[in-house]
Amino acid sequence: MPLPSVWYQRIVFESVGRICFGEGIPVRPVLPIEGFSFRGGELFCESVPLSRLAEVYGTPLYVYSHAEIRRRFQELQAALSAVDHLICYAVKANGNLAVLRALFRMGAGADIVSGGELFRAVRAGVAPDRIVFAGVGKRPDEIELALKTGVRLFNVESLPEAEAIGRVAERLGVRAPVALRVNPDVDPETHAYTTTGKRGTKFGVDLDQALAAYHKMRELSGLEVRGIHAHIGSPVRSLEAYSLALDRLLGLLDRLRRDGFTIDTLNLGGGFPIRYREDEAIFTPEEYAKRLLPRIRESGCTLIVEPGRYLVGNAGVLLTEVIYRKETPEKTFLIVDAAMTELIRPALYGSFHHIYPVCELGSGEERVDVVGPVCETGDFFAKDRMLPRSQAGTLLAIFSAGAYGFVMASNYNARPRPAEVLVMDDRHYLVRERESYEDLIRGERIPEELWDDGREETER
Ligand SMILES: *Cc1c(COP(=O)(O)O)cnc(C)c1O
Repeated sequence: MPLPSVWYQRIVFESVGRICFGEGIPVRPVLPIEGFSFRGGELFCESVPLSRLAEVYGTPLYVYSHAEIRRRFQELQAALSAVDHLICYAVKANGNLAVLRALFRMGAGADIVSGGELFRAVRAGVAPDRIVFAGVGKRPDEIELALKTGVRLFNVESLPEAEAIGRVAERLGVRAPVALRVNPDVDPETHAYTTTGKRGTKFGVDLDQALAAYHKMRELSGLEVRGIHAHIGSPVRSLEAYSLALDRLLGLLDRLRRDGFTIDTLNLGGGFPIRYREDEAIFTPEEYAKRLLPRIRESGCTLIVEPGRYLVGNAGVLLTEVIYRKETPEKTFLIVDAAMTELIRPALYGSFHHIYPVCELGSGEERVDVVGPVCETGDFFAKDRMLPRSQAGTLLAIFSAGAYGFVMASNYNARPRPAEVLVMDDRHYLVRERESYEDLIRGERIPEELWDDGREETER
């Protein structure tokens, strides 16, 4: 029987300490994520307690829920079913081979932005005709690799790039299928660093120059002009922005068709939001579909979407252990073994990540800063956050870390990058090993002459 309120639960909790609240009843509201739930006061990923994963693999550790990824994919697939469509997962959000394989097996294609991502996607068994290739700086060698692989579509970001693709295609004796990435000049009302569809950003071609660009592209014999692409930002919290962008693209589509172009693909990009906070208002795939699909259906085009964060963001947590409690007159710091080197989003965008101990603790709440060991003041996960009172050794889960987490990890401060684990029901798989110190220096060399006794000629 559910307890009457969170408040009541807390009173019970604080008076009796660590007790069992029964299946699925959280002590306090947690994010509505199926893959992660509290049972008996312990946080589980599917059927595996996170504390067990920390024991087996150590911390810091990325943990991904296969069931959550599948649920998200199937939800989106169902919502878009009224039109001919393809979901091209944005590999840059989380490029782990096992995560890619899981998504490709469900029927996803890949949205890639580099030769390296193409390599990953191919290794994970993607169907080449489900790959779309975006990015403002595609090099000739990357273009060649993509053409030889047989990708479905290049999302072209400038005329010089269109010409470069045309040249490589001609040399290989093929025609490159292209869509022009148009900048529809809408404001997605998100962070400035992830606003991509407004005038003045480096992405795409401004709408008022798009028509001329299409005519120039038609003259390039190496190109086959197929589609229109836009990706306005990430995350986009308002359907209004998508709707406005679609209107503008459809205006362009009409004009292109009148000018004799055969456009069969509308690529509306990614940017679908997820909940980082429990009270965050976001639109659902159904609402997206209801608002946009009728117009897309009418256009007769195949719809491509490129979600990254939506599919994997809430399917991952970063598991970390408190190393020290540090109490100062101003603040209490929880210094944890993860850092901006594992998850840079708070440092880079000021992003909020829900944090909670993986085992319920019974000694009240306190206001803390959760920080990493890296020598930067920007190395923090939370500031002035109310959390159950934690000690050295307490395991914390940093939620919503499945997208733009590990992929942005670095070796700064010579920190080996963490391990990644994929959970499938009661099974757990190490899908990337923790790096070793040897890994840190792989490929580095010391020139022989630096090994002499050290003093320079002039000093002798
Ligand atoms: C980053 C990016 C995406 C994915 O964005 P999400 O917010 O993760 O959905 C899709 N398309 C393009 C072109 C991108 O640059």
